[in-house]
Amino acid sequence: MVRKWSPVQVRSWALRRGVKMRVRFELECLSCKRRNYSTVKNKKTTTERLEIKKYCPFERKHTIHKEVKK
Ligand SMILES: [Zn+2]
Repeated sequence: MVRKWSPVQVRSWALRRGVKMRVRFELECLSCKRRNYSTVKNKKTTTERLEIKKYCPFERKHTIHKEVKK
């Protein structure tokens, strides 16, 4: 008999496997040093430190945000 997995079981299995490869980090605004964003990235596919232009709600403009460890 083929074992049927419920959607909840599949999701928790995928989550458990994904946890190992995903790291949580925050994006810090370089000009005001505030941490505006919290996100995850895949360790395997993204190895370099991120530096992206994002909207800073405190300065109300787009600034460079750098990846920082949580
Ligand atoms: Zn800022």
